[in-house]
Amino acid sequence: MDGEPDLYIGGVWRRASDGGTRDIANPADGSIAAVVDEATPDDARDAVAAARTAFDDGAWRATPVAERAALLDRIADLLQRDKEALAGLETRDTGKTLAESRIDIDDVTSVFRYYAELVGVSSDRLVDVGDPAVISRIVREPIGVCVLIAPWNYPLLQMSWKVAPALGAGCTMVAKPSEVTPLSTIAFTHLLEEAGVPPGVVNLVQGSGATLGDALTDTDDVDFISFTGGLATGKRISAVAAEHVTKAAVELGGKNPHIVFADAEWESSVDQVLTGVFLHSGQVCSAGTRLIVEESIADDFVAAVAARAEKIRMGDGMDPASETGPLVSEQHRAKVEAYVQLGLSEGAVLVTGGARPDDPALAKGSFYLPTIFDRCDRTMRIVQEETFGPILTVERFTDEAEAIALGNDTEYGLAAGVRTSDPARGERVVRALRHGTVWLNDFGYYTAAAEWGGFGKSGNGRELGPTGLAEYQEIKHIWHNTAPKPAGWFTG
Ligand code: NAD
Repeated sequence: MDGEPDLYIGGVWRRASDGGTRDIANPADGSIAAVVDEATPDDARDAVAAARTAFDDGAWRATPVAERAALLDRIADLLQRDKEALAGLETRDTGKTLAESRIDIDDVTSVFRYYAELVGVSSDRLVDVGDPAVISRIVREPIGVCVLIAPWNYPLLQMSWKVAPALGAGCTMVAKPSEVTPLSTIAFTHLLEEAGVPPGVVNLVQGSGATLGDALTDTDDVDFISFTGGLATGKRISAVAAEHVTKAAVELGGKNPHIVFADAEWESSVDQVLTGVFLHSGQVCSAGTRLIVEESIADDFVAAVAARAEKIRMGDGMDPASETGPLVSEQHRAKVEAYVQLGLSEGAVLVTGGARPDDPALAKGSFYLPTIFDRCDRTMRIVQEETFGPILTVERFTDEAEAIALGNDTEYGLAAGVRTSDPARGERVVRALRHGTVWLNDFGYYTAAAEWGGFGKSGNGRELGPTGLAEYQEIKHIWHNTAPKPAGWFTG
């Protein structure tokens, strides 16, 4: 990027071994935002080897916890120092608005602050084995070499959910951002170096997952793979990891219901259904893409959401007037457009959108209008498959049991929203939903201190919170007999 080498391996910045590069497009206008070095499988293997060496030499994992915590705090300081530059890169790369990118960098900072505190809190414990001579302890140790693979929708945020606990736990790692959006992670790796992360502890390669994936995962040199991305990739990585009995946590997609009962507070419900699905043009794993609304209010509610959807101001994310940006790429827009055609052919009723905006100022970017399909049902693929675009489907229900059944009618289980002014019903429905995060009368919020992850095919790990650190730790039982004596089993 900017003429500097972009691969960081064993503490050295270097170019791809075959000199390869990739053009990174700005989805707001199709221009080239940057040219970055594109790693080869050999480079990826070098990165894994560097992480292995740095872990096996033992110095990093032996670093006192207080020093690791201080390092995480220094990284947080640098993130805030460079917040504007990092947010600008994120916007140029993903298309999201600068306001969203700034929030992302603040959230990344919070993750580092949170783990800086948490790593100092010991979760070791003593076990009473009934013999006063025996000291039995459960201790946690770094799991080892980690491969961290992130998607393009929240490039630095998703990567930080992995890097912060991995560093805190004393692991070494290879980070691979999405080839579509590597810019913020490259800049961030420079910050890690500046903060004093020792050589080999964090290594960075970027390039296509199809090319680099096996070099990063099909190996006995890796102890843990933390992956966030799509279901198909998650299945593939899980299968490869299983061959090596490598632990793999996969954070996958969602098809998230937002259930609105007739007694829900109107204004906040309309607003949050709108925001829940159209923020970042729907490119959010926890986007509330399935509106499940009580029949008695459905016509008015859908009309109210549609009226506001039509007023959403689309534009270049760098323009403060823009409320949402483009889709991440032309290729992704083509996928979203195909889903809209599918919805029409499945018989869903198009309420609004379903087209590219006709504003000539947006013609060069991969923009797509907020789209709402009414009269959807469970048999439709647009209801069941993750479109990852600005598409809201509407299903209607008549009683609580039906609302719950529809809410759980997905192979995924990442997130859900419930809106009602009846607290008892709210609690009943929240507990009945099989999703990793459930918001009651709210939508989309999260905190670094609370676990994030999915039920079902939304994945099998948890990030953030204490569990997000535990993923990067092995558990060891130490049995120490202070007065050894023979077992006395065999008498001869
Ligand atoms: P993707 O699966 O196409 O790619 C994700 C990452 O995996 C990229 O870095 C890619 O290069 C890499 N990859 C691809 N093939 C690989 C292979 N064979 N081996 C190793 N790595 C490989 O996903 P995407 O399109 O970048 O991201 C969108 C998806 O991510 C959506 O499904 C979304 O729901 C999901 N997501 C989930 C969460 C969550 O917290 N559960 C958060 C954000 C995004």
